[in-house]
Amino acid sequence: MARLGDDMVMDKQHGMLIVVSGFSGVGKGTVVQHVFQSLPNIQFSISCTTRKPRQGEENGVDYFFITPEQFERKIAGGEFVEYTKTFTNYYGTLKSEIDAPISKGVDVLLEVNVVGARNIKAMYPDCVSVFIKPPSLAALKARLIGRGSETPDSLARRLKEIESESREICNYDYVVTNNIACTCADEIVNIIRSEHLKVSRQCIENLFSSEE
Ligand code: 5GP
Repeated sequence: MARLGDDMVMDKQHGMLIVVSGFSGVGKGTVVQHVFQSLPNIQFSISCTTRKPRQGEENGVDYFFITPEQFERKIAGGEFVEYTKTFTNYYGTLKSEIDAPISKGVDVLLEVNVVGARNIKAMYPDCVSVFIKPPSLAALKARLIGRGSETPDSLARRLKEIESESREICNYDYVVTNNIACTCADEIVNIIRSEHLKVSRQCIENLFSSEE
């Protein structure tokens, strides 16, 4: 696994890494889309996955959809910052999706599961992590059932996942509630803007350098 050098962690000119996670069915995708509408200069880290594209998803936009063999070749080639294998599929964050933009000062947003978030936080300690929670468990269950794509088995599996993921929320920097997607996105936008104002993220020495 790659580790960002100490010089990079200390360099205040580099872009910020924003890690977003949330339970399956919480509406992360919609919230994240709203965030990009407000902050269009942020780059989305396109992950690789071996799962099949859902309706409306595009290769190279939502994910790089690749075969298990291609994924395993990338693991062997050390191309991932982190990767995980869920019940059925691989998901992984490419080094190239993160290191190049942040070294140019571009913020990068990643949407990863709790395992990915934990690994990213260990490697990039100055990243900002946000967990999106539903207004209630009942609302989440209703949303999952409403999607119509869950069998009783897969619903039971997802509810189990929710239980174990809940235990990880305390490791995130922020938790926001997705009641209304655009309001939830506004909260994430506020977090990103506030994080940029932190003294520790600014070059205080150069504050007045452009003045005579
Ligand atoms: P979905 O199949 O619904 O798009 O994603 C399933 C889960 O995989 C979500 O929790 C999503 O955040 C997570 N995920 C997507 N890309 C990555 C990745 O690159 N790494 C990790 N660790 N999780 C990912």
